[in-house]
Amino acid sequence: MTSSTEPYDLAVIGGGINGCGIARDAAGRGLKVLLCEQSDLASGTSSASTKLIHGGLRYLEHYEFRLVQESLSERERLWALAPHIVWPMRFVLPHNEELRPAWLIRLGLFLYDHIGGRKLLPGSHMVDLTKDVAGDVLRDDFRRGFEYSDCWVEDSRMVVLNAMDAAERGADVRVRTGVTSVSRQDKSWRLTLTNHETGQTETADAKVIVNAAGPWVAQVAQSSIGMNSKSDIRLVKGSHIVVPKIFDHERSYIFQNADKRIIFAIPYQTNFTLIGTTDVEVDDLADGKKISNGEIDYLCDAASEYFKKPIQPADVVWTYAGVRPLYDDGGGDAQQVTRDFVLERHGPSDGPALLNVFGGKLTTYRRLAEDVLEKLDDCFPEAGKPWTDSAALPGGDFPTQGFENLCETYYASYPWAPETLLHRLTRAYGTCVSDILDGASSMDDLGQHFGHDLYEREIEYLKQKEWARTAEDVLWRRSKLGLFLTPDEQTTLTDWMKAKHVEPV
Ligand code: FAD
Repeated sequence: MTSSTEPYDLAVIGGGINGCGIARDAAGRGLKVLLCEQSDLASGTSSASTKLIHGGLRYLEHYEFRLVQESLSERERLWALAPHIVWPMRFVLPHNEELRPAWLIRLGLFLYDHIGGRKLLPGSHMVDLTKDVAGDVLRDDFRRGFEYSDCWVEDSRMVVLNAMDAAERGADVRVRTGVTSVSRQDKSWRLTLTNHETGQTETADAKVIVNAAGPWVAQVAQSSIGMNSKSDIRLVKGSHIVVPKIFDHERSYIFQNADKRIIFAIPYQTNFTLIGTTDVEVDDLADGKKISNGEIDYLCDAASEYFKKPIQPADVVWTYAGVRPLYDDGGGDAQQVTRDFVLERHGPSDGPALLNVFGGKLTTYRRLAEDVLEKLDDCFPEAGKPWTDSAALPGGDFPTQGFENLCETYYASYPWAPETLLHRLTRAYGTCVSDILDGASSMDDLGQHFGHDLYEREIEYLKQKEWARTAEDVLWRRSKLGLFLTPDEQTTLTDWMKAKHVEPV
């Protein structure tokens, strides 16, 4: 076993959105940070979400006004910080009189429009579904509805961009590295890190540990750190199905179900519609990895209550599932448990301190990271002030509403490349597209073609800058090209990745 000599100020366990957000914030304040992710970045819940940066209209019904207000105010902020991977989305809510009265929805949308500091996103209004194109695919009994704004995010890419920025600001980011045990020293923690690729172990010392292991938070606290946390976690699985495109416009639908839940139907990856999600309480994390047949039936039935053409399980081309690590506030049903986060601090400022992170949403990750550092400010009196509310994520340093202009610039700079490829790359990498394409002057310069519009140059970039190690990392987390490559093409990529393993710089 080797040991890292220089102690870290802060060791973060977990490379999901919360761990990466905390590592980035801390590194930017001048702390010496270690981030360990046992698998790939965003391989836990943070790639399995509905991918909305939203206030959560339905949380108003649970009187979570502060959470909604705080989340709403993050919408335009995150859009501004990463306008390549975050963009506005309009939602159509067909009115179903039997489920909620129109006045209640109007009141909810009025609050939604006004409590979150909305500046650029358009407000809500009524929609006549007998005239609006959004009504065309809906059953004829839905004659009117409401429309409002939220934002969409490429969830796993937001995680990686936070990790990249953390690394650029000096954090030591280790993927495929689990924190397998932790022992308390006099003034610090000693962590044992196991590299799951090589099997090698090493130790590292850190003054403070943040346990941001998402659904694993209690497990890590108990079995790795040997500490029973005061708080409980509720593991609530949520699953999604992807079907061939159901409608041709850019708006999404939010459907109310008879069980008081809601589901979304969202335009996805140009050719598809994403439908989700479910709320299924699980005891074991292993049960949260895969959608069940019952959930597929539930989502198809719920969507078919609204769409003219019923959705069948046979239509499903892809599914994914993830586990919400919710703080147990003693709420009843899984869907009623708060989506807010709770930070549990242990240990004094001059000794080894530990902070467990419970709950949270993608939407609030930046605020969560700020709160974590505030809770630890006595441990780090020299640390800088909050800074992340105006610092763009990698590739996001262009105007909030400037995405189409950036695409035009690339169409002009790389006239030899198809516009569909440049558009996809701009969505993924923003102003970092030039890091991939500069120096190339023809499609041949992009190297081996792996299918659809995936070329060797992009994969080399993902390996070197974004810690991609396997075909799954590339196809399902750095991108969603898994939806487009044939099984044979995916096998070719898998073999190529194995043969050309490159350590990230
Ligand atoms: P994770 O992403 O799970 O990260 C924890 C990481 O810790 C994992 O990658 C894991 O591998 C790692 N880890 C565990 N143990 C160790 C160890 N010993 N050593 C090293 N690493 C370890 N939020 C929104 O804002 N908008 C939405 O639309 C939305 N939709 C959702 C839909 C569903 C179905 C679900 C499940 C969640 C949704 N959320 C949404 C919530 C959001 O996705 C989660 O709150 C968030 O992703 C949790 O991030 P995390 O970093 O805490 O956990």
